Amino acid sequence: MLRKLKSILQQIGVDDRFDTATEESYLDFKFNDSRGVVISVTIATFFLIIGLWVWDWTIDPPHAMDALPTRILLGVIEILYPIALAAGVRRAVLPWLLALIVLSMETLFLYHLTLLEGGLVYGVSGFMFWFMISVFTGLSFNLAPTLLTVVAIAVLPNILVRLGLAPQLELPLYNALVWPTCLIAMFGNLALDRLYRRLFRYRRSIEHTARIDTLTGIANRFHFSEAAPVLLELCRRHEHPISAFMVDIDHFKQINDRYGHPEGDEVIRLVADSMRTKLRNTDLLARYGGEEFVVILPETPPHAAVGVAESVRRTIAEKALALGAGRSIRITISIGVAGYDLLPDDIGLEELLKQADTRLYEAKEGGRNRVVAALRAPLP
Ligand code: GH3
Ligand code: MG
Ligand code: MG
Repeated sequence: MLRKLKSILQQIGVDDRFDTATEESYLDFKFNDSRGVVISVTIATFFLIIGLWVWDWTIDPPHAMDALPTRILLGVIEILYPIALAAGVRRAVLPWLLALIVLSMETLFLYHLTLLEGGLVYGVSGFMFWFMISVFTGLSFNLAPTLLTVVAIAVLPNILVRLGLAPQLELPLYNALVWPTCLIAMFGNLALDRLYRRLFRYRRSIEHTARIDTLTGIANRFHFSEAAPVLLELCRRHEHPISAFMVDIDHFKQINDRYGHPEGDEVIRLVADSMRTKLRNTDLLARYGGEEFVVILPETPPHAAVGVAESVRRTIAEKALALGAGRSIRITISIGVAGYDLLPDDIGLEELLKQADTRLYEAKEGGRNRVVAALRAPLP
């Protein structure tokens, strides 16, 4: 029974959660994406609420003027929500603020109907209106508070009538009208959430594909060109050291010629794997070109970067790379290192990489399988 319920919930998308960290960025995505729509819809609703005074007038022309202030107050309370959204109130607070706004509007609406002759009979269908709002406004959140609010909307007048606040409201009529609408609102919210989850999945997979090198699984040049300047700026702002490597596989043409292009690809992949194991999570490793790699090491002064580069070089030189079918190959790499204890204002990414590339060229000229660095004395 429970399993069946779970599978039904999965089918309609209720149990379609991501892991905790992804769920947070999903909610951020949903919130930011729907914010504009929610603000415009709720502003439009403000005018609709005030405009529905015409309905009051149709129900009971002699008392319609008496009911105008509460009509306006209903609109004023409602408009607090888009104002809170535009003012940047935190996402975690908003669902509860919305619940408070909607439920106090509903209570006020009940009072408003008591001001009109027969208002509670003719105006009963007006309660369905709150569910409409909930579908749009619930767009911004996770489902639980939205669905809770939707149920609270349906239940509240039952409580108010029992408290003696509007004994004339015919609860059977109210419930017969409102509960089916409540169900539609819940499914509307579920459907929108499911649609957003699917959109979010597609977006993430496209972003991932655009930034990852398919052969090696490390960052590609596009991702590098976006992420590296941020690392440089952070280190510059905090006056922390930063270093960079340019790495090139030695005599790679010969490997391709001797073993074939697919094996050449495998070597590139294995070199990327070896480098990854020697670097920190915070280092940015990317495939820069065919068999060239680039690394940015934030928080790493040049003399420490030389140590890392040397350890990368040694690991690759000392280990025979397994090419499959029992074959293995020994290769070497050359590395050029550049870095600063304190990054000067006039040194950008391009200049830093140019310096590392010049050292790489010197490493090649000097006989390959080596690390060459331009070490500077720390600034006074
Ligand atoms: P050096 O020691 O001077 O670096 O010699 P090298 O032969 O490695 O020279 P270079 O760095 O210019 O070689 C680049 C070669 O890498 C040329 C190209 O055929 C090969 N190459 C580039 N991209 C790929 C790739 O994705 N897969 C494979 N298998 N080979 C590639
Ligand atoms: Mg090359
Ligand atoms: Mg090469």
